[in-house]
Amino acid sequence: MTAPLADLLARRIAVAGPIGLDVFMAECLGHPEHGYYVTRDPLGAAGDFVTAPEISQMFGELVGLWLVDRWQAQGAPAPFHLVELGPGRGTLMADALRAARLVPAFAAAATLHLVEASPVLRRRQAETLAGHQPRWHDSLDTVPAGPLFVVANEFFDALPIRQFQRTEAGWVERLVTWDDGFRLILGPGPASLVPEAVRAAPVGAIAEVCPAGLTLAAELGRRIRADGGAALVIDYGPAESAPGDSFQAVRGHQPVDPFAAPGQADLTAHVDFAALARAAAGTGVGVSGPVRQGAFLQALGIDQRCAHLGAASPDRAADLAADRDRLTAPDAMGTLFKVLALHPSGDQPPGFPP
Ligand code: SAH
Repeated sequence: MTAPLADLLARRIAVAGPIGLDVFMAECLGHPEHGYYVTRDPLGAAGDFVTAPEISQMFGELVGLWLVDRWQAQGAPAPFHLVELGPGRGTLMADALRAARLVPAFAAAATLHLVEASPVLRRRQAETLAGHQPRWHDSLDTVPAGPLFVVANEFFDALPIRQFQRTEAGWVERLVTWDDGFRLILGPGPASLVPEAVRAAPVGAIAEVCPAGLTLAAELGRRIRADGGAALVIDYGPAESAPGDSFQAVRGHQPVDPFAAPGQADLTAHVDFAALARAAAGTGVGVSGPVRQGAFLQALGIDQRCAHLGAASPDRAADLAADRDRLTAPDAMGTLFKVLALHPSGDQPPGFPP
């Protein structure tokens, strides 16, 4: 079997030298012909991983009600931009818009914008969200100015990271080279990117930085501060910046070597929520959280919603409760997954303790 992306990357390294992990990750996920997201729908039981909205409709419904609540709290601006970053199959947004029918003026005032790199998933989103006339974007940059209400679930974890390692001589970058296979070597700095909070870690420690994530968090903050709105970022990762190597690959629901088959596995890293919060707060926007996903969903009423759905279809009650537990239990998604909100400063969004 030929491995076109591996060959391309190996030739590039042979000619131009080792590449940053961010470049490796971006090519594996987004190469226009051979990238992981470009060539498939990775979600679901037959795919490589399952996300919260694919587990239960309750997830998107509660996110939708949160967005409606924030929109009303700001005086129901009309028109406004309803934005999802990395919408996958469109399931979260479809569930959110169904729940939002409680307040018909919300969808009436919304223009739907989907930031999606994958042509395969764009087709899928067009089916799921037919009737809502979505507009697609390669990045947030082309979403027009104006009030924006944003959700991003398992999006930031897919943004390329750089890794640094503390050596006797200070922090240096870990780079990807190739000799009979891809492997990491130590290159030069710049150490200035290593977050303050982990700079004192011992020799051998690894630090991760996600430049694209920090840039995006700051851009969301700038826009919300200028035009109003709110953003909900949901993903897996620690609440506090900490050293550690979280670069990981998943294929067929199993962890695999991220360097073994470029373009064939989903590559992600833990989201450094403290770093995102700092980047956003620097723009003057209000920041709430991160809180644990379990606590957030419970505060928004997932138990009541689960009981209500179960009462309406008693034969599904046990499955609904199991799905609810998967989203909220500490040993499932309840603790590793965090929720961060950006909003006008002074706002008190539901789901976040004051
Ligand atoms: N939010 C969805 C899907 C999560 S998977 C869910 O919860 O089910 C990550 C999503 O982000 C996919 O839709 C993927 O195609 C998209 N994506 C990943 N990297 C991207 C990038 N750099 N630009 C735009 N979309 C990206």
